[in-house]
Amino acid sequence: MEKQQYERPLIKRLESKIPNKFGAKPNLIPITHIDEVAVKDLISEHGSPLFVISEKKIRSNIRKARKAFETRYPKVQFAWSYKTNYLDAVCRTFHQEGSWAEVVSDFEYDKALHNGVNGSKIIYNGPDKTPESIKKAIQNNSLIHIDHLDEYYTIQETADALGIKAKVAVRINMDTGVYPMWDRFGFNYENGQAWTVLNKIMRSDVMTLVGLHTHIGTFMLSAIAYGVAASKLADLAIGIRTKYDHQIEYIDMGGGFASVNRLKGSYLPGVDTNPTIDDFAEAITTALINADFKPDELPLLILETGRALIDDAASLLGTVISNKRLSDGRRSTILDIGVNLLFTSFWYEHPITPAQPFTQYTEDTVVYGPLCMNIDVLREHITLPLLNKDDHVVIQYVGAYNMTQWMQFITLRPRIVMIDEKRNVNIIREREHLDRILEFEKVPDHLKKFDL
Ligand SMILES: *Cc1c(COP(=O)(O)O)cnc(C)c1O
Repeated sequence: MEKQQYERPLIKRLESKIPNKFGAKPNLIPITHIDEVAVKDLISEHGSPLFVISEKKIRSNIRKARKAFETRYPKVQFAWSYKTNYLDAVCRTFHQEGSWAEVVSDFEYDKALHNGVNGSKIIYNGPDKTPESIKKAIQNNSLIHIDHLDEYYTIQETADALGIKAKVAVRINMDTGVYPMWDRFGFNYENGQAWTVLNKIMRSDVMTLVGLHTHIGTFMLSAIAYGVAASKLADLAIGIRTKYDHQIEYIDMGGGFASVNRLKGSYLPGVDTNPTIDDFAEAITTALINADFKPDELPLLILETGRALIDDAASLLGTVISNKRLSDGRRSTILDIGVNLLFTSFWYEHPITPAQPFTQYTEDTVVYGPLCMNIDVLREHITLPLLNKDDHVVIQYVGAYNMTQWMQFITLRPRIVMIDEKRNVNIIREREHLDRILEFEKVPDHLKKFDL
C-alpha cells in the first residue's frame, strides 16, 4: 500500500447534503482513466496539458442523434459543423458516420475538400464567402446558403459568368420566442425580407432554390423554439410550392442544441437542466410532420449539430503547478491549463476532477491558469480536495470550440490525441514548436543586429 499523504488540518463548518448556493455537492470520484487508458500514462507519454478525444464517444453521440431523428422522420441528414472542431481526425470520424460537411469560411471549405468530402455534400454558410470561394462552390455543385443580398448578387454574377446554375438555399432568421433574437444572419421572416430574396432567386435563371436554412442560436435551452422555427420554414416552403410550383429539397435546422455542459451561474448541472437530443428531435419533427406538406413531398431534414455531439467526447488533462492562499483566506490552485486553451471556461463551469485518489476534505477553491493575466480563471468557485504540486486533473466536456478558438499566447499549443475503439492512442495534432511560429515572422534588415 502507498504511504498515506499528510494533510494540514482545517476547521470548517459542516455542510448538509442539500445543494447550497454553489449548487449540489460534487460527486468526487477521481477520473484515473479515459476509455480505459490511464491519465498518468497519457501525460507521461504526451505531456501536459493534453487534449484527449474519445472516438468511441463521438461515434456513440452521432449514432444516438441520428436515431433520435430517424425514428421520428423519414429523411434525415447530419452535416458536421467544422467550426465546432475541425481537426481532420474528428471531421473524418463524423464523415465515416455519414455526416456531410458544414463550413463557414473559405478555409473551412478547403479543409472539407481536403478531407475528401464531395463538393455536393458541402454546405457553405456564413456572411463572408469570398468571390473565389463562391466560384469554387458553384463549380463543385455545393449547397450555398445565402446570408445577405450582396452575396446574392455575387452568386448571380459568378454563376452567370461560369454558365453553371448555382444550388442555393436561404438562411432565414425569425422570432422563435427566444431573445435576444439572432437576426444578424440571413433574412428575416417576419419583416418580409425572406420573401424578397426568395422571389429574386425564383426569378433568376442561374440559381436553383434547393433549401431553406436557419440556425436560431447556440446552446439553446428551449426545444420549443426549434418547433416554432421549423413551422416557419415549412410555411415558406409551402408558400414557394404554391406560388411557383417549386418543391424545395431540404429544410436545414442548423445547430445550437445544448451540450451537457453547465452554464455559469446555473444552479444545477447541465445534464439535469438542458433539453436532450430527443427533446429537440421531437419538437422539430412534430412541426414538420404537422405542416401542410403532402406526405410524399416531405423535405429532407438536415441538422448541423456541433457542440452537442462533441463537447463530452473530449477532456483536457493538466497538472497542478502550485497552491496558495488568497488575501481573503480562500485556497487557490494554479494549473498548467489557461483560458488560452479553454476559451469556453468564460461561459461554462467545466467539471474539474482530480486524476488520482485524494483525501476526504474538500474546500472552496479558485482554479487559475498559468497565464500572467488576471482574467486567467478556469473556475471562480469549485469544491475540491487538496491537490498537490504535480498532481493531475481532468477537465471534462471541452470538445466544442476550444480546439478551434484556442490562442497561441505566451506558450505553444499542446498535443491532441484520440483514443480509438481499440484503445490505441493516436496523435492527431502535434504540439507546436517555436520553429513553426518563427516560420511566419520576418525581421527587417535594419533590425537584425543589436548591441546590448
Ligand atoms: C456554429 C454553427 C453551427 C453549429 O452550432 P452548435 O451550437 O455548435 O451546434 C451550425 N450551423 C451554423 C450555420 C453555425 O454557424
